[in-house]
Amino acid sequence: MIKRNKGFINLTSGYLFPEIAKRRREYAASHPDAHIISLGIGNTTEPLTPHIAKAMSDYALSLSTPAGYSGYGDEQGLMALREKIASVLYPGLITPDEVFISDGAKCDIARIQCLFGHGVNVAVQDPAYPVYVDGSVIVGAAGKPKASGNGYKGIIYMPCTPDNHFFPDLSVVPENALIYFCSPNNPTGASATREELEKLVAFALEKGCIIIFDAAYNAFIRTEGLPKSIYEIEGARKCAIEVNSFSKPAGFTGVRLGWSVVPKELVYADGTSIHSDWNRVMTTLFNGASNIAQQGGLAALDDEGQKEMRSLIDYYLENARVIRETLTGNNFKQANVSVYSTGNAPYVWAHFPGYDSWEIFDLILDKCHIVTTPGSGFGPAGESFLRFSAFGHHEDVQEACKRLSTLKI
Ligand SMILES: *Cc1c(COP(=O)(O)O)cnc(C)c1O
Repeated sequence: MIKRNKGFINLTSGYLFPEIAKRRREYAASHPDAHIISLGIGNTTEPLTPHIAKAMSDYALSLSTPAGYSGYGDEQGLMALREKIASVLYPGLITPDEVFISDGAKCDIARIQCLFGHGVNVAVQDPAYPVYVDGSVIVGAAGKPKASGNGYKGIIYMPCTPDNHFFPDLSVVPENALIYFCSPNNPTGASATREELEKLVAFALEKGCIIIFDAAYNAFIRTEGLPKSIYEIEGARKCAIEVNSFSKPAGFTGVRLGWSVVPKELVYADGTSIHSDWNRVMTTLFNGASNIAQQGGLAALDDEGQKEMRSLIDYYLENARVIRETLTGNNFKQANVSVYSTGNAPYVWAHFPGYDSWEIFDLILDKCHIVTTPGSGFGPAGESFLRFSAFGHHEDVQEACKRLSTLKI
């Protein structure tokens, strides 16, 4: 019989979100009258906007005509979309052939893990989006779980805490490592400043590291002057890959459309091109993003689409504001709860001293019938924190906040 892939043997912890779903299910089964509201999983809730939806609908219909039909397209995506992404989102910073259209940022991260394989050091912000670590374990770039139960051997955890303003001490990172960096951050909501990203890029250049910059939330940035792309930082073209997605800003979580940027200057130790290997990965292991979704992406990047996306994002940012206001209420203040929210991300990150994450998760589920996300699920430094997601209908978020404002902790 076939031996099980060692990566899966090492992968001990279940993926965070199935565990949350299980607890919610069990609670609902024993409390059938509870109206449970989720501020948990980072999934979008608001409908597609009209201009973007119409572009996809028109295109889908045109596929039923002989003139409008098309089959496989280029694996790298429609040239018109690659050009539009380069010119609208990265003016003067990248060229269209450095943009690779995909079925989403998570899928690109998995393919990046395939690109670099098992022989590479991996550093992650702690807490972090779970795929960076779990995917690295699956491909064998990380080893067994540590005896403490906190994380995996072979992964370098860079704690991001209130004490360091959520920007890590890079000196723990060895040479030639892949550094996963997400800004605005999921789960903490922290957005790195230009000075911080300059530090990160300078470090990567000096140590031969490559930054995997996850910019899935960059369209949520509202503070003037914060960089939206790593390529706004000089030198980043020599040391960074950026992944991004229409999922969160355009509600494309189900439609599926993202992209990665791999600059031509990026090379391996032997001088060969990373861009050319990435092209190989995309043409071999991927067969192109949905042509319908790509029409949606094109519409999202014209003036009307940009306007629609902005108001969709404003909707979620308003939820984040309401949640932050609630969590800074007197009942939380008395329990010394600290709230971190920058106004540049759809997440509010809160510290509950004296509780571990799952304890406070269970308490809020039981007393308020609200699902949150335990911070410890994102890494050891997330212990005692909860993430509140601003993805939800206004009415649900308002109702959830009403309940939270009467919580006694
Ligand atoms: C949601 C999310 C993604 C996933 O994006 P898809 O394009 O839907 O695969 C990637 N990175 C982070 C940090 C996310 O929160």
